[in-house]
Amino acid sequence: MAMFDIRCPKCGGFAQSSNLTCSKSNVMCTCCGAKFDVKVTSDSSKTGRYTTSNIH
Ligand SMILES: [Zn+2]
Repeated sequence: MAMFDIRCPKCGGFAQSSNLTCSKSNVMCTCCGAKFDVKVTSDSSKTGRYTTSNIH
């Protein structure tokens, strides 16, 4: 299964690798320390697309 980089919506830095099979909350950016929620859809694990929300 492919792994994708989840990037921080605030600074664009790397936050974590994920296969995007399930949504996550409180993902932390390793660069700026921002936390955000990652929401995936049923085809995210193929397309690598995801949305972020709750940035703080
Ligand atoms: Zn960041």
